Amino acid sequence: MMTGQQYKKSLNDNREIFFEGERVRDPLAHPVLSQCVERVAAGYDRFYSPAPGAVSPLMAVPHSAQELHERIPLLHESDIVANVTYQSLMTLTTAATRIADSLPDYSKRIRRYVADAQQRDIRIVECITDAKGDRSRPPGKQDDPDAYTHVVERRPDGVVIRGAKLHITGASICHELMVIPTKAMKPGEEDYAIGCAVPVNSPGVKIVDTSYAPRHPDVRTFPVSSRTHMPEGFVIFDNVFVPKERIFLDGATEQAAVFAHSLGLWERLGGLSGMAEEADQLVGFAQLIAEANGLARESHIREKISEMIIHATLVRSALEAAIAKCHVTEEGAFPDELYTNAGKYHGAANYNLMVRHLHDIAGGSVLTAPSLADFENEQTGPLVRKYMSTMNGVDGEYRARLFHTVRDITADAYGGWRAVTNVQAGGGLYAQRIVTRRYYDLNGAKEKALHVAGLDSKSGK
Ligand SMILES: Cc1cc2nc3c(=O)[nH]c(=O)nc-3n(C[C@H](O)[C@H](O)[C@H](O)COP(=O)(O)OP(=O)(O)OC[C@H]3O[C@@H](n4cnc5c(N)ncnc54)[C@H](O)[C@@H]3O)c2cc1C
Repeated sequence: MMTGQQYKKSLNDNREIFFEGERVRDPLAHPVLSQCVERVAAGYDRFYSPAPGAVSPLMAVPHSAQELHERIPLLHESDIVANVTYQSLMTLTTAATRIADSLPDYSKRIRRYVADAQQRDIRIVECITDAKGDRSRPPGKQDDPDAYTHVVERRPDGVVIRGAKLHITGASICHELMVIPTKAMKPGEEDYAIGCAVPVNSPGVKIVDTSYAPRHPDVRTFPVSSRTHMPEGFVIFDNVFVPKERIFLDGATEQAAVFAHSLGLWERLGGLSGMAEEADQLVGFAQLIAEANGLARESHIREKISEMIIHATLVRSALEAAIAKCHVTEEGAFPDELYTNAGKYHGAANYNLMVRHLHDIAGGSVLTAPSLADFENEQTGPLVRKYMSTMNGVDGEYRARLFHTVRDITADAYGGWRAVTNVQAGGGLYAQRIVTRRYYDLNGAKEKALHVAGLDSKSGK
């Protein structure tokens, strides 16, 4: 396994990364990226074991509902890059299982890669979302053939790929890019049915970063985002050579969707577990602010908080069901598709309403609570403390800090990131609706309806 120090050193590999128009030669010396690197390094140290052959608990494949369950708090206390590494390895493990009969050689190669990645203790990110061009047209019918990542040359020892994968969380500070097709491919689209693992420093890989990191000199009023931000990478594959042993799929269009579906399962389980945690946090903030404002007994406030509690409980119930009803095979434990997708959909679709309730309860100080530096200033400190206080026992700074956190997580750059990410990560809401419908027992529901109506099942279409 790697220590944090070894991880930091490993990034010094001539990778081509860019941040706001500038090439970043040393991520450790960059004012924003260095914070992310330090966070990932701390995660390495947290789980480091010197035992030969040890595998990080974040990278091991779970084999039971209990192991799936126990992994969640570990992932929550880890950085996003560790989370997407786990999801990448689980995506590959799931896909290897699903293609084992039709593509046994690729399946074996994927398993070897997963075992090797666990031993090397590397960080891997998920590169699925292509640039996609005109969304109404398939990959082969785009004006620019590179709108979807594809093979441009086949050699005896590997392939050359070209294209771009967008919104790739943590790409510039990981080791390898797991590249998989973004959707199902049809006959004629063989070059687009490409899955592989690409080291970040491969010649031709360029990553353009964006960030929601607070850039203020005093980040104490950004208590969450200043600790958790990670870069989003616009990953360009400009004629990148991929050796044979790193190719997981090449040309088998009928299996292209397996990878996207496998990733969807794990990405949405991660999203669902994150939203379950966030939903409880939103309830907590609503109740704390209602109490600090003297309104906790007010009926319309209680009703909104009750609605938030019901939402939080249902999201967590879906998470519990997705795990309790997991499918255990020799390969591992796989969460249930129906509960994972329905839960992720419900959590994401109702998130903005829960945030609206919180903002409605909290009031304008969400945006305008004075900073901690104002509390420390000799002239303003005593006055802002006095007027931010609401009653004996409710300190002004305590109340301001609640508001700072609510702004940070719901109403500022990171809040915007959460709102969009909840909807888009793991595919938009539409994707979750499709999968939920596919796994729901619609015929069983029809049978029940016919039974209640006293009708013969043969007449039901
Ligand atoms: C912060 C953030 C982090 C992310 N992290 C990652 C990551 O690490 N790795 C990764 O691979 N991706 C990542 N994503 C990408 C995410 O999965 C996509 O944003 C999502 O799948 C939607 O794709 P898109 O952004 O290209 O939007 P679009 O595909 O343009 O979708 C926009 C809307 O158009 C609809 N639509 C699109 N095509 C069609 C069609 N043919 N017919 C009908 N409707 C259509 C969609 O359903 C959606 O409602 C991330 C996204 C965000 C915002």
